[in-house]
Amino acid sequence: MKKTFIESTFCKEDQVFDTKIRPSSLNNFMGQDLIKQRLEILVKAAKSRSEPLGHCLFHGPPGLGKTTLANILAEEMQTKLVTTSGPALDKPGDLAGIMTSLEEGDILFIDEIHRLSRNIEEYLYPAMEDFQLDLLLDSGPNARSVQVKLNKFTLVGATTRIGLISSPLRSRFSFHSRLDFYTIQTLTKIIKRSCSILNVDLTNDQCKEVAKRSRGTPRISNNLLKWVRDYTCIRHQEKITTNLVKEALDMLCIDEKGLDEMDKKILMTIIDHHDGGPVGIKTIAAAVGEDDSTLSEVYEPYLLMLGLLKISMRGREATKLAYDHLNQTMPKKLKTDGELS
Ligand code: ADP
Repeated sequence: MKKTFIESTFCKEDQVFDTKIRPSSLNNFMGQDLIKQRLEILVKAAKSRSEPLGHCLFHGPPGLGKTTLANILAEEMQTKLVTTSGPALDKPGDLAGIMTSLEEGDILFIDEIHRLSRNIEEYLYPAMEDFQLDLLLDSGPNARSVQVKLNKFTLVGATTRIGLISSPLRSRFSFHSRLDFYTIQTLTKIIKRSCSILNVDLTNDQCKEVAKRSRGTPRISNNLLKWVRDYTCIRHQEKITTNLVKEALDMLCIDEKGLDEMDKKILMTIIDHHDGGPVGIKTIAAAVGEDDSTLSEVYEPYLLMLGLLKISMRGREATKLAYDHLNQTMPKKLKTDGELS
């Protein structure tokens, strides 16, 4: 899946930055309070019984903390985290190799679990339920099934597309959680914490300014903070002022609702070319030059959350809020939600 401009711009350095900045305990993980409380109970219960955690599935848009939670669970359970991803598990042998090397209580994290092939999924069912792998050796008349016992492990899955996970796989996770976009207050706290790790001196108001343009996403907050730091450094400014922060963020063309150029392009395509919609996602994707899965996984959740976009059986529609935000005049036919005037 493609990343947004802000995500891809800093991708390489982000990895170094990420390891320092990624919260390593539930205490440092900000927001998502209900999920944290539930996980605390799960961890305490599993520890008190000296058992591995039950299998957990986290879903939600990219950058909200799914991988971070998998890392935290491993820290909290004082166990090893083995990371892989759906597309990387191509053959049953790949899965068998990883699973047979897991020790008692280890956590296997599968990112983008919705991209696992059906074939691999079939192997996961007995592994998750009975901790055994049923491997098929050879084919045709020589085919034999071999059962391999596994150590009791925890599978943590992460996905941006819960709807693409088959129900047999979904039902084998004992804990499911959807991560929501973060509020500006929580993002402000996350940015403040990142400032102290990065040694950047921003006031609360300046952190809030960055938070407002972060699309409710901590990963974007951290990337924007880094951009602000680089911008002020290159502009040779000793002291970071609010105006300088705004200037830096304006340069990335992110508005005060956090919409970037692609968000606006999507909305303007619906408004300008299709009278506000409804229009199919494939048509929009072709018009803006993105693939439809990126639109539905990365861009649409935030536009929906802001109430700028409406999705129905007939396609995507721009709402009155979208027209107002983009200073566009709504065509008469749309003035009373669906009724022709
Ligand atoms: P996902 O796996 O959902 O795409 P990640 O877990 O990789 O997202 O999070 C991206 C970055 O955002 C992490 O490196 C981390 O620094 C930061 N982050 C995410 N959630 C939080 C949080 N609740 N508190 C603080 N930082 C967070």
